[in-house]
Amino acid sequence: MPSILLFNPTILTMSSEGDIIEQGYIYIDEGKIVGVGKIDELPYEFKYADLVLNLKGRIALPGFISYHNHLALHLIRFIGIGLTLDEWIDLVAWPYEKSLTPEESYYAAKLAIYNLLKSGVVGVADMHFNMDSVARAVHETGIMANLSVAIMDTKIKSYEETLKENLDLYKKWNGVDNNRITVSLGPCGIRFLKTNQFQEISTIAMEENMPIHMHLSEIQDDVKYAREEYGKRPVEVLRDLGLLGERTLLAHAVWVSEREIDILAKTLTNIAHCPISNTVLLSGIAPLISMLHKKARVGFGVDVNPEWDVLAEARTAMYITNNLYGSPPRLKSFEILKMVTGGIAKFPGIEKHGLIKPGYDANIVVLNTKDPEGWPYKGSYYSTVLFSKAEVETVIVKGEVLVDGGEVLTISDKDVEKAKNILIKKLDELPILKQA
Ligand SMILES: [Zn+2]
Repeated sequence: MPSILLFNPTILTMSSEGDIIEQGYIYIDEGKIVGVGKIDELPYEFKYADLVLNLKGRIALPGFISYHNHLALHLIRFIGIGLTLDEWIDLVAWPYEKSLTPEESYYAAKLAIYNLLKSGVVGVADMHFNMDSVARAVHETGIMANLSVAIMDTKIKSYEETLKENLDLYKKWNGVDNNRITVSLGPCGIRFLKTNQFQEISTIAMEENMPIHMHLSEIQDDVKYAREEYGKRPVEVLRDLGLLGERTLLAHAVWVSEREIDILAKTLTNIAHCPISNTVLLSGIAPLISMLHKKARVGFGVDVNPEWDVLAEARTAMYITNNLYGSPPRLKSFEILKMVTGGIAKFPGIEKHGLIKPGYDANIVVLNTKDPEGWPYKGSYYSTVLFSKAEVETVIVKGEVLVDGGEVLTISDKDVEKAKNILIKKLDELPILKQA
């Protein structure tokens, strides 16, 4: 693997607010960050890196993480806006998913990853079907991914079938590409599984030591269902099944009580906050300020956000939260960016991500702040990254350059065209578009 010298960017190390190196350098070798500092102290031997990128006028920081995705739903992200979650599932998602072939999942995932890489995302946690195809797309494109199958007992997929797919995925893909791909168990949500099935999943998770990725309390019906079936709130159900902890990732957590947040924070359980999806699908507003106050581990998830952009999630969270509370405590740009850059919440594979620091994985995003969109960045670096929409010029994952000059190197224009041609036919099958 070639050594890389990033020469002369402004570096946001994300270690603490204000830890910013102007005219800095980052030296990368064997996929890791080896040296970080100011260019006038650049060690002699680093000058002879295999690849040197001149990054004057750029900001470099840890790459962005999206903690909750359905890559294969990229194709339908614009459809059904204004429907509630359950209406959207019935009218858009399930009609699309019921005939989704492995080939279609593969191409949809490729386009989804293309968009994510172009917007600076280096890692995703993804849950869906046909995950062997999604894993293939991940493997070819170089993004980091924690994958799971949406295990559910519904009219379109059976519990046995989805559980088997998840366990097969684990055997085949967990740890592949130097841990760039990891696999979790993906119980879709409390409402989509019978009590005994949910118990079996928790037994498997414990016996096989498998991490968990699932939806939690996205809408009020989830809480109602848990109270009726289990006599307790959803977080208590998970706690009593032994499903909480630092290797668990819960998407949404919109309808959680203060006591539930305490439990999530105490158990170091990770939360994917998805404010755009929650707004578009009329689910509600998660209590983000309270989660952060209690030091819960929270990051952002693109989910089925029509913008397909994790920075848009971060901006939305900041706007909504600050407006809702109207008085301090307010969210600040550094805090929000810390969540985006993988410094707070974790999933398997990104343990050594989130700081520009020797020993950390070389997962780096570089923004061009020379153009008017990102100028003048001086003195407000964190806000520039969040708000400017400056071009993502370079993306590096585990020491490999995946985006250069704004172009995705691992997905060709031909790949993109082929994917579009194959997928466009799929839209004609959607009943909601036939009615329109
Ligand atoms: Zn979801």
